[in-house]
Amino acid sequence: MRVEPHDLLPALMVALLCCFGGLNAASQSTVDRDIPTNFKLDMQTAARLRPQLLAASDPASELYPIGRIVLERLVSQVASPASFKFTWELRIVRDDQLNAYASPDGTIYVEGGLAELAGSSAGLWAAILSHEIAHVIRRDWARRYLFQKELEVSGGFAIVFGDPGLPSTSWSSADKASQEMGRYCRQLELEADQESLMLMARAGYHPDFVPSLHHILHAQESGKRPQSLAAMHPCWEERDRELSRAYTAASIEFNRRWPAWYASPGGNPPILVFTEEPVVRRTPAAWEILVPLRCQNLAGAVEVVLRNDVPAVESNWLTRLPDREDSGEIRELTGCTSTKTTVTLRVNRVGDTDSATRLDGVYVVDSWGVVLAKADLPKMPH
Ligand SMILES: [Zn+2]
Repeated sequence: MRVEPHDLLPALMVALLCCFGGLNAASQSTVDRDIPTNFKLDMQTAARLRPQLLAASDPASELYPIGRIVLERLVSQVASPASFKFTWELRIVRDDQLNAYASPDGTIYVEGGLAELAGSSAGLWAAILSHEIAHVIRRDWARRYLFQKELEVSGGFAIVFGDPGLPSTSWSSADKASQEMGRYCRQLELEADQESLMLMARAGYHPDFVPSLHHILHAQESGKRPQSLAAMHPCWEERDRELSRAYTAASIEFNRRWPAWYASPGGNPPILVFTEEPVVRRTPAAWEILVPLRCQNLAGAVEVVLRNDVPAVESNWLTRLPDREDSGEIRELTGCTSTKTTVTLRVNRVGDTDSATRLDGVYVVDSWGVVLAKADLPKMPH
């Protein structure tokens, strides 16, 4: 049977979005374990799968030279362990998905959709790559592998978790093991995020590019998008919250090293928009949708746009909201100056038909229509 490169990826990679598992579970510091000095399986596996991964990707230097430059800058700030020689390299996977993963040998694969979203923004590239570099340096693949083996030995993980062919009597232990595994992966993700923030600050990329990337990815989610992406999204918000301490430390370090932000390699930090879930009120004549938001690094205004369907976009992913004044969409400009700005959008009700049930979501865009964030509408009250 021919094995597609993609079938092998989950086995090899610690993905950028390793978000399976319970989000509310208390994070124990189980990650801090030693990798035996003679453990080489991660490097051996990387070498074995490398030809297939290379065949499905292209060097970044051809398509996204900016990505390669950012990788070099970030890596120059990394002290590799003496026993390892990582071959740092950036490859673009020939598909349109929004993911990235790192091979234990230091090769970073960014899928085509995510590369397109990062585009020419050095800061967004830094947010993607610094996270993957952190996984490689920490040898997270080895950690995850060893943790899984431990679960197997303790009897909770005798089968591949999520195996649909599982006999029902095994469900309880399998569930517990997969919960444990999910918790562990989540902890790996958070620690990689934390380390990546400091790495960015040292290399000259403002830490604000990390939440900016999270918000842009969140905005890609809608009913028509792949399910996997929908499953990830709570994770982004959760991550933003969990990162606050590391974020503060990285911001202090960035300001110390790069007092003139505009002159840093990543340039000025991006406009950041944090949204909360809108409150929907029904009046006799209209729906009122109250959108709470907070902005950072904003000089000028942003526009809050209520769309009544999934926006038609030229590419697979939504980077820019096209102007469509005829579509019945509702737009409000805001300077977003207070610590909590609330923008109210009004949708007129026509008879009793609930056009509101077709609403897609609230997007926040800059003056060029570039999507900065999305707020998910709650279920409309009846
Ligand atoms: Zn990750």
